[in-house]
Amino acid sequence: MSGVAFDVASNRSAFPALDQEVDGHPLVYLDNAATTQKPRAVLDALEGYYTSDNANVHRGIHELSRRATEAYESARSKVARWIGAEDPTEVVWTRGTTEAINLVAFAYGLDRLGEGDEILLSILEHHSNIIPWQLVAARTGARVRYIEIDDDGEWILEDLPELVGKRTRIVALNHVSNALGTINPVERVIGHVRMHAPGAVVLLDGAQAMAHMDVDVGELDVDFYAFSGHKACGPTGIGALWGRKAHLEAMAPYQGGGEMISVVERDRSTWAAVPHKFEAGTPNIAGAVGMGAAVDFVESIGKPAILAHERGVVGYAIERLEARFGDRIRIWGPRAIERRSGVVPFSLDFAHPHDIATILDSEGVAVRAGHHCAQLVMKRYGVPATARASFYLYNTTDDVDRLVDALGQVENFFG
Ligand code: PMP
Repeated sequence: MSGVAFDVASNRSAFPALDQEVDGHPLVYLDNAATTQKPRAVLDALEGYYTSDNANVHRGIHELSRRATEAYESARSKVARWIGAEDPTEVVWTRGTTEAINLVAFAYGLDRLGEGDEILLSILEHHSNIIPWQLVAARTGARVRYIEIDDDGEWILEDLPELVGKRTRIVALNHVSNALGTINPVERVIGHVRMHAPGAVVLLDGAQAMAHMDVDVGELDVDFYAFSGHKACGPTGIGALWGRKAHLEAMAPYQGGGEMISVVERDRSTWAAVPHKFEAGTPNIAGAVGMGAAVDFVESIGKPAILAHERGVVGYAIERLEARFGDRIRIWGPRAIERRSGVVPFSLDFAHPHDIATILDSEGVAVRAGHHCAQLVMKRYGVPATARASFYLYNTTDDVDRLVDALGQVENFFG
Protein backbone atom coordinates (compact mmCIF):
# COMPACT_ATOMS: atom_id res chain seq x y z
CA MET A 1 0.00 0.00 0.00
CA SER A 2 1.66 3.17 -1.11
CA GLY A 3 0.33 6.32 0.49
CA VAL A 4 2.65 8.93 -0.99
CA ALA A 5 4.27 9.52 -4.36
CA PHE A 6 7.70 7.98 -4.74
CA ASP A 7 10.28 10.64 -3.95
CA VAL A 8 13.83 9.36 -4.12
CA ALA A 9 15.36 12.49 -2.58
CA SER A 10 13.12 12.21 0.45
CA ASN A 11 13.77 8.45 0.65
CA ARG A 12 17.46 9.16 0.61
CA SER A 13 17.33 11.82 3.29
CA ALA A 14 15.72 9.29 5.66
CA PHE A 15 19.01 7.32 5.77
CA PRO A 16 21.70 9.09 7.82
CA ALA A 17 24.49 6.71 6.75
CA LEU A 18 24.12 7.75 3.11
CA ASP A 19 25.13 11.28 3.99
CA GLN A 20 28.88 10.81 4.30
CA GLU A 21 32.08 10.92 2.30
CA VAL A 22 34.44 8.04 1.60
CA ASP A 23 37.96 8.97 0.55
CA GLY A 24 36.78 12.51 -0.13
CA HIS A 25 33.88 11.40 -2.35
CA PRO A 26 30.19 11.43 -1.43
CA LEU A 27 29.24 7.82 -0.68
CA VAL A 28 27.39 5.88 -3.37
CA TYR A 29 26.08 2.77 -1.64
CA LEU A 30 25.44 -0.04 -4.13
CA ASP A 31 25.71 -3.06 -1.85
CA ASN A 32 22.05 -3.35 -0.91
CA ALA A 33 21.75 -7.04 -1.67
CA ALA A 34 24.28 -7.63 1.12
CA THR A 35 22.44 -5.33 3.52
CA THR A 36 20.41 -2.16 3.14
CA GLN A 37 21.07 1.02 5.09
CA LYS A 38 18.73 1.83 8.00
CA PRO A 39 16.29 4.72 8.02
CA ARG A 40 16.10 7.16 10.91
CA ALA A 41 12.73 5.64 11.91
CA VAL A 42 14.39 2.28 12.58
CA LEU A 43 17.29 3.87 14.48
CA ASP A 44 14.76 5.82 16.57
CA ALA A 45 12.77 2.68 17.32
CA LEU A 46 15.91 0.93 18.54
CA GLU A 47 16.93 3.87 20.67
CA GLY A 48 13.40 4.37 21.98
CA TYR A 49 13.15 0.75 22.99
CA TYR A 50 16.45 0.75 24.86
CA THR A 51 15.86 4.18 26.33
CA SER A 52 12.47 3.54 27.86
CA ASP A 53 11.15 -0.04 27.52
CA ASN A 54 14.15 -2.33 27.90
CA ALA A 55 13.28 -5.47 29.87
CA ASN A 56 13.06 -9.19 29.24
CA VAL A 57 9.94 -10.49 27.53
CA HIS A 58 7.22 -12.88 28.72
CA ARG A 59 8.82 -13.11 32.18
CA GLY A 60 8.82 -10.03 34.32
CA ILE A 61 5.64 -8.98 36.08
CA HIS A 62 6.43 -5.31 35.86
CA GLU A 63 5.64 -2.38 33.64
CA LEU A 64 8.81 -2.42 31.52
CA SER A 65 8.54 -6.14 30.86
CA ARG A 66 4.91 -5.66 29.86
CA ARG A 67 5.91 -2.91 27.45
CA ALA A 68 8.81 -4.92 26.02
CA THR A 69 6.55 -7.96 25.53
CA GLU A 70 3.89 -5.84 23.88
CA ALA A 71 6.45 -4.24 21.52
CA TYR A 72 8.01 -7.63 20.68
CA GLU A 73 4.68 -9.32 20.02
CA SER A 74 3.15 -6.45 18.12
CA ALA A 75 6.20 -6.46 15.81
CA ARG A 76 5.50 -10.15 15.24
CA SER A 77 1.90 -9.35 14.25
CA LYS A 78 3.13 -6.63 11.92
CA VAL A 79 5.53 -9.03 10.20
CA ALA A 80 2.75 -11.61 9.92
CA ARG A 81 0.47 -9.08 8.18
CA TRP A 82 3.38 -8.06 5.96
CA ILE A 83 3.62 -11.54 4.48
CA GLY A 84 -0.11 -12.17 4.33
CA ALA A 85 -0.16 -14.59 7.28
CA GLU A 86 -3.38 -14.56 9.25
CA ASP A 87 -1.93 -16.01 12.43
CA PRO A 88 1.04 -14.26 14.07
CA THR A 89 1.88 -17.43 16.01
CA GLU A 90 3.05 -18.87 12.67
CA VAL A 91 5.92 -16.36 12.71
CA VAL A 92 9.06 -17.52 14.55
CA TRP A 93 11.70 -14.88 15.19
CA THR A 94 15.16 -15.98 14.13
CA ARG A 95 18.56 -14.35 13.62
CA GLY A 96 17.78 -14.15 9.94
CA THR A 97 17.24 -16.25 6.84
CA THR A 98 20.15 -18.55 7.62
CA GLU A 99 18.82 -19.53 11.01
CA ALA A 100 15.28 -19.88 9.65
CA ILE A 101 16.43 -22.36 6.99
CA ASN A 102 18.56 -24.27 9.50
CA LEU A 103 15.53 -24.47 11.77
CA VAL A 104 13.50 -26.20 9.05
CA ALA A 105 16.41 -28.41 7.99
CA PHE A 106 17.05 -29.67 11.51
CA ALA A 107 13.64 -29.51 13.18
CA TYR A 108 11.67 -30.74 10.16
CA GLY A 109 14.11 -32.48 7.83
CA LEU A 110 16.28 -34.44 10.23
CA ASP A 111 13.30 -36.26 11.78
CA ARG A 112 11.46 -36.93 8.55
CA LEU A 113 14.01 -37.75 5.87
CA GLY A 114 15.34 -41.23 5.20
CA GLU A 115 17.54 -43.15 2.81
CA GLY A 116 16.76 -42.24 -0.79
CA ASP A 117 14.44 -39.34 0.01
CA GLU A 118 15.10 -36.29 -2.10
CA ILE A 119 15.61 -32.61 -1.33
CA LEU A 120 15.24 -30.38 -4.37
CA LEU A 121 17.24 -27.15 -4.53
CA SER A 122 18.53 -25.10 -7.45
CA ILE A 123 22.12 -24.25 -8.24
CA LEU A 124 21.05 -20.62 -7.89
CA GLU A 125 20.78 -20.95 -4.10
CA HIS A 126 22.74 -18.96 -1.55
CA HIS A 127 24.97 -21.26 0.51
CA SER A 128 22.59 -20.82 3.43
CA ASN A 129 20.00 -22.74 1.40
CA ILE A 130 22.44 -25.47 0.38
CA ILE A 131 24.65 -26.31 3.35
CA PRO A 132 21.89 -27.02 5.92
CA TRP A 133 20.39 -29.52 3.46
CA GLN A 134 23.75 -31.14 2.76
CA LEU A 135 24.27 -31.53 6.52
CA VAL A 136 20.85 -33.11 6.97
CA ALA A 137 21.25 -35.28 3.87
CA ALA A 138 24.56 -36.63 5.18
CA ARG A 139 22.88 -37.68 8.43
CA THR A 140 19.74 -39.18 6.91
CA GLY A 141 20.87 -40.73 3.63
CA ALA A 142 18.69 -38.30 1.68
CA ARG A 143 19.86 -37.03 -1.68
CA VAL A 144 20.17 -33.38 -2.71
CA ARG A 145 19.14 -32.63 -6.30
CA TYR A 146 19.35 -29.37 -8.22
CA ILE A 147 17.43 -27.40 -10.80
CA GLU A 148 20.04 -26.11 -13.28
CA ILE A 149 20.17 -22.60 -14.76
CA ASP A 150 20.61 -21.43 -18.33
CA ASP A 151 23.00 -18.79 -19.64
CA ASP A 152 20.59 -16.00 -18.63
CA GLY A 153 20.34 -17.19 -15.03
CA GLU A 154 16.87 -18.71 -15.39
CA TRP A 155 15.88 -22.09 -13.96
CA ILE A 156 15.62 -24.84 -16.59
CA LEU A 157 12.07 -25.91 -15.84
CA GLU A 158 11.96 -28.52 -18.60
CA ASP A 159 13.88 -30.75 -16.17
CA LEU A 160 11.14 -30.64 -13.51
CA PRO A 161 9.37 -33.88 -14.54
CA GLU A 162 12.65 -35.72 -14.01
CA LEU A 163 13.50 -33.89 -10.75
CA VAL A 164 10.16 -33.98 -8.93
CA GLY A 165 8.59 -37.28 -8.02
CA LYS A 166 7.60 -39.76 -5.36
CA ARG A 167 10.88 -39.41 -3.48
CA THR A 168 10.77 -35.61 -3.29
CA ARG A 169 10.22 -34.63 0.36
CA ILE A 170 11.52 -31.08 0.57
CA VAL A 171 11.76 -28.35 -2.06
CA ALA A 172 13.82 -25.34 -0.92
CA LEU A 173 14.32 -22.47 -3.37
CA ASN A 174 15.19 -18.82 -3.41
CA HIS A 175 12.42 -16.42 -4.37
CA VAL A 176 14.89 -13.90 -5.81
CA SER A 177 18.57 -14.64 -6.50
CA ASN A 178 21.23 -12.60 -4.72
CA ALA A 179 23.92 -13.62 -7.21
CA LEU A 180 22.08 -12.84 -10.46
CA GLY A 181 18.98 -10.90 -9.44
CA THR A 182 16.62 -13.40 -11.10
CA ILE A 183 13.03 -13.21 -9.87
CA ASN A 184 12.40 -16.91 -9.94
CA PRO A 185 9.21 -18.49 -11.32
CA VAL A 186 8.47 -20.07 -7.94
CA GLU A 187 4.73 -20.30 -8.64
CA ARG A 188 5.36 -22.62 -11.59
CA VAL A 189 7.63 -24.89 -9.58
CA ILE A 190 5.26 -24.98 -6.62
CA GLY A 191 2.33 -25.82 -8.92
CA HIS A 192 4.35 -28.69 -10.37
CA VAL A 193 5.41 -29.94 -6.92
CA ARG A 194 1.84 -29.85 -5.58
CA MET A 195 0.69 -31.92 -8.55
CA HIS A 196 3.50 -34.46 -8.74
CA ALA A 197 4.87 -34.65 -5.18
CA PRO A 198 1.89 -33.93 -2.94
CA GLY A 199 3.75 -35.07 0.18
CA ALA A 200 6.62 -32.62 -0.26
CA VAL A 201 6.95 -29.39 1.70
CA VAL A 202 8.09 -26.20 0.02
CA LEU A 203 10.36 -23.61 1.64
CA LEU A 204 11.14 -20.31 -0.01
CA ASP A 205 14.22 -18.29 0.86
CA GLY A 206 12.83 -14.76 0.71
CA ALA A 207 16.01 -12.94 1.76
CA GLN A 208 16.19 -10.98 -1.51
CA ALA A 209 12.44 -10.68 -2.05
CA MET A 210 11.10 -9.08 1.13
CA ALA A 211 12.54 -5.63 0.52
CA HIS A 212 11.32 -5.40 -3.06
CA MET A 213 8.18 -7.41 -3.70
CA ASP A 214 4.83 -7.94 -2.06
CA VAL A 215 4.87 -11.40 -0.54
CA ASP A 216 1.77 -13.38 0.39
CA VAL A 217 2.53 -16.79 1.82
CA GLY A 218 -1.05 -17.96 1.23
CA GLU A 219 -1.04 -17.01 -2.44
CA LEU A 220 2.41 -18.52 -2.90
CA ASP A 221 1.10 -21.77 -1.42
CA VAL A 222 4.33 -22.44 0.48
CA ASP A 223 4.90 -24.35 3.71
CA PHE A 224 7.77 -22.20 5.00
CA TYR A 225 9.06 -18.73 4.15
CA ALA A 226 12.39 -17.42 5.48
CA PHE A 227 13.70 -13.85 5.49
CA SER A 228 16.06 -11.36 7.17
CA GLY A 229 15.28 -7.92 8.56
CA HIS A 230 18.59 -6.33 7.58
CA LYS A 231 17.97 -6.68 3.86
CA ALA A 232 14.76 -4.68 4.18
CA CYS A 233 15.83 -1.61 6.19
CA GLY A 234 15.72 -3.50 9.50
CA PRO A 235 18.48 -4.25 12.00
CA THR A 236 20.97 -7.11 11.66
CA GLY A 237 20.48 -10.21 13.79
CA ILE A 238 16.72 -10.43 13.33
CA GLY A 239 14.61 -12.25 10.78
CA ALA A 240 11.80 -14.72 10.71
CA LEU A 241 10.54 -18.06 9.65
CA TRP A 242 6.90 -18.28 8.69
CA GLY A 243 5.57 -21.84 8.79
CA ARG A 244 2.18 -23.47 8.51
CA LYS A 245 0.88 -24.02 12.02
CA ALA A 246 0.40 -27.76 11.54
CA HIS A 247 4.06 -28.19 10.57
CA LEU A 248 5.36 -26.00 13.38
CA GLU A 249 3.25 -27.87 15.91
CA ALA A 250 4.43 -31.25 14.66
CA MET A 251 8.11 -30.28 14.67
CA ALA A 252 10.40 -30.96 17.62
CA PRO A 253 12.17 -27.95 19.16
CA TYR A 254 15.31 -26.81 17.40
CA GLN A 255 17.16 -25.48 20.45
CA GLY A 256 16.49 -25.97 24.17
CA GLY A 257 16.56 -23.40 26.94
CA GLY A 258 14.44 -20.84 28.68
CA GLU A 259 11.30 -19.46 27.05
CA MET A 260 10.60 -22.61 24.97
CA ILE A 261 9.38 -24.91 27.76
CA SER A 262 6.10 -25.51 29.52
CA VAL A 263 6.95 -27.89 32.39
CA VAL A 264 10.45 -29.14 33.18
CA GLU A 265 10.95 -32.46 34.99
CA ARG A 266 14.19 -34.23 35.83
CA ASP A 267 14.12 -36.53 32.83
CA ARG A 268 11.65 -34.97 30.43
CA SER A 269 9.96 -31.69 29.74
CA THR A 270 7.10 -30.29 27.72
CA TRP A 271 7.21 -27.44 25.29
CA ALA A 272 5.65 -24.04 25.07
CA ALA A 273 3.16 -23.44 22.28
CA VAL A 274 4.43 -22.25 18.89
CA PRO A 275 6.12 -19.96 18.11
CA HIS A 276 7.79 -19.83 21.56
CA LYS A 277 8.78 -23.49 21.28
CA PHE A 278 11.34 -22.33 18.69
CA GLU A 279 12.56 -19.23 20.52
CA ALA A 280 14.86 -20.57 23.24
CA GLY A 281 16.65 -17.97 25.34
CA THR A 282 16.32 -14.21 25.53
CA PRO A 283 15.43 -13.14 22.00
CA ASN A 284 16.58 -10.13 20.00
CA ILE A 285 13.80 -7.93 21.36
CA ALA A 286 15.23 -4.66 20.11
CA GLY A 287 15.81 -6.26 16.72
CA ALA A 288 12.18 -7.29 16.50
CA VAL A 289 11.08 -3.79 17.45
CA GLY A 290 13.43 -2.33 14.83
CA MET A 291 12.10 -4.73 12.25
CA GLY A 292 8.55 -3.63 13.03
CA ALA A 293 9.63 -0.05 12.34
CA ALA A 294 11.28 -1.20 9.11
CA VAL A 295 8.02 -2.80 7.96
CA ASP A 296 6.19 0.49 8.61
CA PHE A 297 8.87 2.42 6.73
CA VAL A 298 8.93 0.15 3.67
CA GLU A 299 5.13 0.02 3.59
CA SER A 300 4.87 3.81 3.78
CA ILE A 301 6.66 3.85 0.42
CA GLY A 302 5.13 0.68 -0.97
CA LYS A 303 6.94 -2.26 -2.51
CA PRO A 304 5.39 -1.96 -6.00
CA ALA A 305 6.71 1.62 -6.15
CA ILE A 306 10.11 0.48 -4.87
CA LEU A 307 10.36 -2.26 -7.50
CA ALA A 308 9.27 0.11 -10.28
CA HIS A 309 11.91 2.63 -9.19
CA GLU A 310 14.61 -0.05 -9.04
CA ARG A 311 13.71 -1.23 -12.53
CA GLY A 312 14.16 2.28 -13.86
CA VAL A 313 17.59 2.62 -12.24
CA VAL A 314 18.69 -0.91 -13.17
CA GLY A 315 17.57 -0.41 -16.78
CA TYR A 316 19.57 2.82 -16.93
CA ALA A 317 22.60 1.08 -15.35
CA ILE A 318 22.58 -1.78 -17.86
CA GLU A 319 22.18 0.63 -20.76
CA ARG A 320 25.01 2.89 -19.61
CA LEU A 321 27.38 0.05 -18.72
CA GLU A 322 26.88 -1.65 -22.08
CA ALA A 323 27.18 1.62 -23.98
CA ARG A 324 30.41 2.49 -22.17
CA PHE A 325 32.16 -0.91 -22.16
CA GLY A 326 30.57 -2.77 -25.09
CA ASP A 327 31.76 -6.35 -25.37
CA ARG A 328 34.35 -5.81 -22.62
CA ILE A 329 31.58 -6.12 -20.03
CA ARG A 330 29.41 -9.13 -19.30
CA ILE A 331 26.28 -8.43 -17.29
CA TRP A 332 25.01 -11.60 -15.68
CA GLY A 333 21.41 -12.56 -15.09
CA PRO A 334 18.17 -12.27 -17.06
CA ARG A 335 18.09 -9.98 -20.08
CA ALA A 336 14.48 -8.90 -19.53
CA ILE A 337 14.32 -6.14 -16.94
CA GLU A 338 11.06 -7.43 -15.47
CA ARG A 339 12.77 -10.75 -14.73
CA ARG A 340 15.33 -9.20 -12.38
CA SER A 341 15.40 -7.33 -9.08
CA GLY A 342 17.78 -4.50 -8.17
CA VAL A 343 20.89 -6.63 -8.66
CA VAL A 344 23.39 -6.00 -11.50
CA PRO A 345 26.30 -8.47 -11.41
CA PHE A 346 29.02 -7.91 -13.99
CA SER A 347 32.50 -8.87 -15.13
CA LEU A 348 34.99 -6.73 -17.07
CA ASP A 349 37.48 -8.53 -19.28
CA PHE A 350 40.33 -6.27 -18.15
CA ALA A 351 40.09 -6.41 -14.34
CA HIS A 352 39.46 -8.90 -11.57
CA PRO A 353 36.24 -8.28 -9.57
CA HIS A 354 38.19 -7.67 -6.36
CA ASP A 355 40.35 -5.04 -8.09
CA ILE A 356 37.20 -3.45 -9.51
CA ALA A 357 35.63 -3.21 -6.05
CA THR A 358 38.84 -1.85 -4.51
CA ILE A 359 39.19 0.94 -7.07
CA LEU A 360 35.47 1.76 -6.88
CA ASP A 361 35.83 2.01 -3.11
CA SER A 362 38.59 4.58 -3.52
CA GLU A 363 36.09 6.58 -5.62
CA GLY A 364 33.45 6.32 -2.86
CA VAL A 365 31.38 3.68 -4.68
CA ALA A 366 30.54 0.61 -2.56
CA VAL A 367 29.90 -2.61 -4.49
CA ARG A 368 30.42 -6.23 -3.61
CA ALA A 369 32.92 -8.54 -5.29
CA GLY A 370 33.25 -12.26 -4.76
CA HIS A 371 31.26 -15.44 -5.18
CA HIS A 372 28.28 -13.92 -3.32
CA CYS A 373 27.86 -17.12 -1.29
CA ALA A 374 26.75 -18.77 -4.52
CA GLN A 375 29.72 -20.84 -5.62
CA LEU A 376 27.54 -23.17 -7.69
CA VAL A 377 26.54 -20.20 -9.84
CA MET A 378 30.17 -19.15 -10.29
CA LYS A 379 31.08 -22.72 -11.28
CA ARG A 380 28.21 -22.83 -13.77
CA TYR A 381 29.61 -19.77 -15.55
CA GLY A 382 33.26 -20.70 -15.10
CA VAL A 383 34.22 -17.56 -13.16
CA PRO A 384 35.73 -17.33 -9.65
CA ALA A 385 33.80 -14.19 -8.78
CA THR A 386 31.81 -11.28 -10.14
CA ALA A 387 31.38 -7.62 -9.19
CA ARG A 388 27.84 -6.74 -8.11
CA ALA A 389 26.07 -3.41 -7.90
CA SER A 390 22.72 -3.68 -6.13
CA PHE A 391 20.21 -0.85 -6.00
CA TYR A 392 17.47 0.12 -3.59
CA LEU A 393 14.86 2.78 -2.94
CA TYR A 394 17.42 5.55 -2.36
CA ASN A 395 19.63 4.98 -5.41
CA THR A 396 19.45 7.32 -8.37
CA THR A 397 20.63 7.52 -11.96
CA ASP A 398 23.33 9.88 -10.60
CA ASP A 399 24.61 6.94 -8.57
CA VAL A 400 24.78 4.95 -11.81
CA ASP A 401 26.75 7.76 -13.47
CA ARG A 402 29.19 7.74 -10.54
CA LEU A 403 29.55 3.96 -10.92
CA VAL A 404 30.26 4.24 -14.64
CA ASP A 405 32.76 7.08 -14.09
CA ALA A 406 34.52 5.11 -11.36
CA LEU A 407 34.71 2.08 -13.65
CA GLY A 408 36.44 4.43 -16.08
CA GLN A 409 39.18 4.73 -13.44
CA VAL A 410 39.43 0.94 -13.35
CA GLU A 411 39.87 1.00 -17.13
CA ASN A 412 42.58 3.68 -16.85
CA PHE A 413 44.40 1.49 -14.38
CA PHE A 414 44.10 -1.91 -16.06
CA GLY A 415 42.52 -1.43 -19.47
N1 PMP B 1 19.56 -16.22 0.97
C1 PMP B 1 19.82 -15.23 0.12
C2 PMP B 1 19.22 -15.28 -1.26
C3 PMP B 1 20.63 -14.17 0.53
O1 PMP B 1 20.89 -13.18 -0.32
C4 PMP B 1 21.16 -14.16 1.83
C5 PMP B 1 22.07 -13.05 2.31
N2 PMP B 1 23.03 -12.66 1.38
C6 PMP B 1 20.83 -15.20 2.68
C7 PMP B 1 20.03 -16.21 2.23
C8 PMP B 1 21.32 -15.26 4.08
O2 PMP B 1 20.77 -14.22 4.82
P1 PMP B 1 21.32 -13.89 6.28
O3 PMP B 1 22.80 -13.75 6.13
O4 PMP B 1 20.65 -12.60 6.60
O5 PMP B 1 20.92 -15.00 7.16
